[in-house]
Amino acid sequence: MTGWLDPLRAVLDSAERPVTFFFRDDDAGWDDEALAALLDVFGTSGVPLDVAAIPEAMSPHTVDLLASRRESGRNDLTVHQHGLAHVNHEPEGRKCEFGPSRSAEQQADDIARGRDLLHSMMGDLPAVFTPPWNRCAPWTAEVLRDLGFAVLSRDLSAGLAGVDGLVELPITVDWYAKRTKVPVDRAGRGELLAESAAGPGPVGLMLHHEVMGEDDRADLADLLDLVAGHTAAATDHLDRLALTRVR
Ligand SMILES: [Zn+2]
Repeated sequence: MTGWLDPLRAVLDSAERPVTFFFRDDDAGWDDEALAALLDVFGTSGVPLDVAAIPEAMSPHTVDLLASRRESGRNDLTVHQHGLAHVNHEPEGRKCEFGPSRSAEQQADDIARGRDLLHSMMGDLPAVFTPPWNRCAPWTAEVLRDLGFAVLSRDLSAGLAGVDGLVELPITVDWYAKRTKVPVDRAGRGELLAESAAGPGPVGLMLHHEVMGEDDRADLADLLDLVAGHTAAATDHLDRLALTRVR
């Protein structure tokens, strides 16, 4: 095992309660080849993966890839909705597909359209929503709840919307996190994981397959080995984790 995971291993070794992890890979529909390479890493480890899929970017090939991996048992994966088209609607400021320039009605139309499209391609899916760029307007959570969604997954920095009936399971570590505007190196990534594992949890790691290279996948394989093999670590899918924290 490589040294960058030592801080996380130390937290797990001394943990008094199991530390729960979930792994979310965004942007399915973009770069199927890189997605398949990431699925290979998860398939080997057996660790559950939540794939956030962009409904309007999914091709028949993407659908085949995800469905065949799931149905064959090669991957323990679930697919959920990642926006509609992953386009920015904000004329200025930070990019958002479901930001403040879009009314609740417009957002409801887009989310329902994406949900129906994804359902037509992938069948029944967990009622989980991840907004592109990990953020949305203050009213998006209520829109999701009213459409029947059970889980909203954003970044920890987005805060909590606090809408009854909607469980929030934020990402706590971005594989490509920046510290003081500089991307973290692998040692920094290990420290972020350790800090998150020492917190109230669960640890939510966000991945983007389309920008991951061989080195990233090798490091990720080491992380998954640690998590899968450590008695103090537990893993699950977002929708199942949400069942234990119903508001
Ligand atoms: Zn995305």
